[in-house]
Amino acid sequence: MKLSNNIKSFLKGETLCFPGMYPLTLIMGDGGLLCGKCALENKRLILQAHATSKIYGKHDRWFPKNVDVFWEGDIRCDYCSENVTAYGEI
Ligand SMILES: [Zn+2]
Repeated sequence: MKLSNNIKSFLKGETLCFPGMYPLTLIMGDGGLLCGKCALENKRLILQAHATSKIYGKHDRWFPKNVDVFWEGDIRCDYCSENVTAYGEI
């Protein structure tokens, strides 16, 4: 299975949605949510979980399920517990 293009570009650091500059988040196999910073920091684990999903399934916490746009509200990253904001912002 190939990585979808939106997950691929997310892991390359394109963690903002155009137009609008809304932050993108990564939805994980266990239903968790990763902010751009954590996704990039744990890229290796994410790519590994994807590569081994045939064996270990798609419910691993590091399996990249989908990229979602975070529009507004209060959502925290399940890894760093930070509020999800545009990557690079305070
Ligand atoms: Zn995070």
